[in-house]
Amino acid sequence: MNVAVVLYTSDLRLHDHPPLRAALSSCDRVVPLFVRDRAVDAAGFAAPNRLAFLADCLADLDAGLRERGGRLVLRSGDVVAEVGALVRECDADEVHMAAGVSGYAQAREERLRAALEAEGVRLYVHEAVVTVAAPGAVLPAGSDHFAVFTPYFRRWSELPPRPVAAAPRSVRVPEGIGSDPLPRRADVTGVSPGLARGGEREARDLLRRWLRAGLSRYADAHDDLAGDATSRLSPHLHFGTLSPTEAVHRARTAATGHAADPGAEAFVRQLCWRDFHHQVLAARPETAVRDYRDRRDRWRTGAAAEEETEAWKEGRTGYPVVDAAMRQLRHEGWMHNRGRLLTASFLTKTLYVDWRIGARYFLDLLVDGDLANNQLNWQWAAGTGTDTRPNRVLNPVRQGLRYDPAGRFVHRWVPELAGLDAPKVHEPWRLPAPDRARYAYPDPIVELADGLDRFRRGRDTG
Ligand code: FAD
Repeated sequence: MNVAVVLYTSDLRLHDHPPLRAALSSCDRVVPLFVRDRAVDAAGFAAPNRLAFLADCLADLDAGLRERGGRLVLRSGDVVAEVGALVRECDADEVHMAAGVSGYAQAREERLRAALEAEGVRLYVHEAVVTVAAPGAVLPAGSDHFAVFTPYFRRWSELPPRPVAAAPRSVRVPEGIGSDPLPRRADVTGVSPGLARGGEREARDLLRRWLRAGLSRYADAHDDLAGDATSRLSPHLHFGTLSPTEAVHRARTAATGHAADPGAEAFVRQLCWRDFHHQVLAARPETAVRDYRDRRDRWRTGAAAEEETEAWKEGRTGYPVVDAAMRQLRHEGWMHNRGRLLTASFLTKTLYVDWRIGARYFLDLLVDGDLANNQLNWQWAAGTGTDTRPNRVLNPVRQGLRYDPAGRFVHRWVPELAGLDAPKVHEPWRLPAPDRARYAYPDPIVELADGLDRFRRGRDTG
């Protein structure tokens, strides 16, 4: 009998899972393993929303494996030590896992490879599991990554698609392997009340509904803040309960059966943004904390900046669309992409506060929070990243008027302003004083013109 361990990380699914398929084709017994990694907790990444969602994902993965005769083994501690112990316990011949992207994931892979080699066990690291294309699958001449999205998208689109693999029918786990109890969502405290449910079944249902009812409107409606016309698949892509390759494939064949469908192409383009940021982070792991392009910003610090940052976090900046988006984040552990763009621009450009502070706050709450997408989108918004127009500043009033023209998004999340119609709802400070007093809503914490001025002066443009 030969045995393989499949180490699950950000790929918590059975469908389209190359490591599991490879393990099943070369070994009679397979141990699907997830390690609750202490290093992730120690680094402050174990945010309640993600822990709760993870608990759903693990329970669902276990249920899916049990339907196929197997089960999930859970261990807690240092990943390398736990995999080593399990390999000895079940006398495994090989270990399979998906390639990671972050500096931590790359180092984990190296440590694991060295430890397993010392035991005579082979580690197979499978590419293109957490992303559609492996970082480095397409490269510009003379560089280890693409710094600009459009040429990346062009080359990425030309890659021959990897076939989507079906879920296995049966998984046989060796007898007598112990497991820690699976975590339960109900045991996690501090979870956002409107947090979505996790798990592969949920992901597949959501994808099915999205392809049927959402995709065709996506090209026109994805920026409509109140319309909720995006897929909301991001947490599933983050935890890997949905394969990004399968999402691309099914979007392309869903609506009309040909690739020219505008909704499908716009959606696939967004999935490519995800790969784009992953290939930047894989090549430049330090950009999780350091500027991708150092503009020598003199970010504001001190009491006033801290107070304004608190107001931003709590959704009381006095700019309704900013506050609405920040309150959505707290309530759902998720925020619309347009909201993320305009709140990030507001913090980094209007308040001129360091992007790392905003990125950290997002990571504390976002159920889809991940280093590649979060840190590099923050850098994009702050102008330190890959945006080719780093000095653009999003005006929150114009953003509100354009992406929430009827004010429905603001009304939903800022009930203090529910009685105020658009367009006035986007500029409540312009109301005559007696009218204004009827709404228990703060005055703007900063004048937009002052913010813009400070941003321009703060940058070392020399
Ligand atoms: P859809 O519009 O349905 O898009 C489909 C998928 O494409 C998404 O699920 C996501 O995987 C991917 N995608 C879409 N836009 C982007 C983008 N700009 N960059 C990378 N991938 C994208 N996304 C995360 O997954 N995790 C994060 O931590 C994260 N932080 C962000 C922080 C800021 C400041 C900004 C501006 C954006 C951030 N994004 C992040 C990207 C984007 O906002 C979310 O992926 C998107 O809002 C998720 O909603 P959806 O699934 O409905 O997206």
